Parts: sequence; C-alpha cells; structure tokens
Amino acid sequence: MATLSSSMASTPNPKPRLRGVVFDMDGTLTVPVIDFPAMYQAVLGQEEYLRIRAESPSGIDILHQIENWSPEKQQKAYQTIADFERQGLDRLQIMPGAAELCGYLDSKRIRRGLITRNVMTAVDLFHQRFGITFSPALSREFRPYKPDPAPLLHICSVWDVQPDEVIMVGDSLKDDVRCGKEAGAFTCLLDETGRYDSPEYANVDHKPDFKVSSLVEIHTLLESKFHLEP
Ligand SMILES: [Mg+2]
Repeated sequence: MATLSSSMASTPNPKPRLRGVVFDMDGTLTVPVIDFPAMYQAVLGQEEYLRIRAESPSGIDILHQIENWSPEKQQKAYQTIADFERQGLDRLQIMPGAAELCGYLDSKRIRRGLITRNVMTAVDLFHQRFGITFSPALSREFRPYKPDPAPLLHICSVWDVQPDEVIMVGDSLKDDVRCGKEAGAFTCLLDETGRYDSPEYANVDHKPDFKVSSLVEIHTLLESKFHLEP
C-alpha cells in the first residue's frame, strides 16, 4: 500500500472510500404511494394536524406524536397508520433507477442496506415483489428507529465498516438525512420535486452532503465523489 500511495503522490486521490450504501424504502426505493398528509390528518384530527404542522416545518414525526397517548388511543392510531400503509402496498412500485443502481453497486461489490420506519412485513413484501434484497434491512421493529442514528450504526457494525465509509440515501430530511448525519455517515437527499429548495428548509439543522432529483443521478455521483472499494 505504501508503494502504491507514494507512486501516486503526484496525483493524490482525495476521494473518500465508500463501502456501503443504506437506503430508505418508502419514497426512495419505492414510488411514494402513501398520502402522508391524509394519514396524519386521520390520526391527529385536522385541528391538531394543522397545529403540529405549523410547529414542525421540516415535517411531522407521527410515531413520535402518538408515543405518549393512552394505549387505547394509540392502538387506534396504529390501526389507521397500518390501513394507509396497506393501501400503499397494493399500489407499490419500484423507483425508476433503483434496480439499475443496485445492479451497479453489486458489480462494485458495495454493500446495500435498508432502514425504514415502515413495518417488517412491508420490507418482506418489497423484497419478494422486486427480487432485490437488502441486508441488513431494519424496520420500525428495530428500536430506536430513524431519525435516531442507532439503526445506521447497527448496520455499520454488522458490516464492520466505519460510518464515514457509508452513505445514507433517502427522501426525508428529518428522518434519513438526520439519521445519517448523526451517525457520521455521508447523506444524499432524494428530492424529486424540488420541495426542499423552499425557503422554509434554509435553516434546518441537518443538511445533506448531496441532493439528487432521481436515483438515476446517484450512479454518477458515487463515481465522481467516492472511491468505491468494498
Ligand atoms: Mg421515505
């Protein structure tokens, strides 16, 4: 290694090494089919929904909102969330570029993991329906879930890699980017519609290292910014 680096001293390679990519599922590997605003309203009621939305410019954490409700009320809320998720599953589609990106990562022997706040049955269905498997794949049964960095740190330890050798890719600033940043990983925000360009996101605490509007762009991003080495 020493010989190699000294022979390359005139052309140093400043690119960080990348050994693994961790994906969010809903809205990242799959086309968004869950109507989240409708789900939040159904769970919280319109008045409470509007109040919480005004207080949380970067988005509502519905699981957190219902955490301290009475068991009875909470059970009903989980039921409503499950109904919305089930409807979403019926219409599940893979995100354009996802299969190609996974094929590219496999060709480079780069690890692929998944972290979702959805349930494990949804992950199983995703794996079955599209024939692409992520490992580890952590669902909300793994506590604490995103945006806590714990699931990402867990994946790094299973892979035996450092967090800064991993990139977290997701469509949520408050969950995916925050989880990635707090774990010490690189982060890439998938913003298909440019909604995060809006001024309300200018002063958020967690900013992504990269932003793309399609998974198709990630191939070039990884090639140009990283040294891919398993
Ligand atoms: Mg998502």
